Amino acid sequence: MLSHHQFISRRLLLSVAGIGLLSAAGCQLPSHDGGDGAAPAGILPSGPAASTASSPEPTPSASGPLPAQPRAKTNPLFSLAADDRLVALTLDDGPDPAHTPIVLSILEQYRLRATFFLIGENAARQPALVREIAARGHHIANHTWSHPDLRGIPDAKVRDELLRTSDLLGNTTGRTPTWFRAPGGDWSDASLRICAELGMRPMGWSVDPQDWARPGTSLITQRVLQTIGPGSIVLNHDGGGDRSQTIAALRTYLPVLLDEGYRFTAPK
Ligand SMILES: [Zn+2]
Repeated sequence: MLSHHQFISRRLLLSVAGIGLLSAAGCQLPSHDGGDGAAPAGILPSGPAASTASSPEPTPSASGPLPAQPRAKTNPLFSLAADDRLVALTLDDGPDPAHTPIVLSILEQYRLRATFFLIGENAARQPALVREIAARGHHIANHTWSHPDLRGIPDAKVRDELLRTSDLLGNTTGRTPTWFRAPGGDWSDASLRICAELGMRPMGWSVDPQDWARPGTSLITQRVLQTIGPGSIVLNHDGGGDRSQTIAALRTYLPVLLDEGYRFTAPK
């Protein structure tokens, strides 16, 4: 649990982030989007191992950009450090040519920004769709190349799954992913370490309506609305099968949450 001091510090950071948000110019999605200005509060890692303060300084290089700086291994971020109605929507297992464009249009309609955890082999088949997601202001994140259970494979294979996907997404969008999510949320020590070595941070979730199992639109909607709260990270899927229930649920619960004063951010 947070100590009083930590709590005050986070409130302070939120205040600073709020000022940053107010002064931010040229935000692409201003209406219901938490904006990048809120991200510093949202990405505070939760574990004691999370500090990167002792990371060595990068070695200056005269020839081109520095390589990604290895970070200290962190525990996954399961929720944002928000004490107001700031939440994050994440969409896994795409891009999917049938469902992702519909999800994009819904996000456009409500003017909010999400994080898409893409599977490399899907992204390789849909480069234009990957670029479209990024062009609309959403964050492109790494969800492995082939969606394996990372707990049961050698470290070299884990590294290949992550690195190949980051390379592809970087080459496709011009931006290297900064977030990684293990398939099924099945983290392992190796995947967390390799995630850090590749310059990414791990993101979990705190609201899981199990939409992948297609329990019905009303149940997906109900589970999200009943469990969401300040700082929630919501897991939904735009790929991996028929996602029409997820799409219908998004159309139902997003306007309800916006009416209730929720704002959405894509943590940087
Ligand atoms: Zn997945």
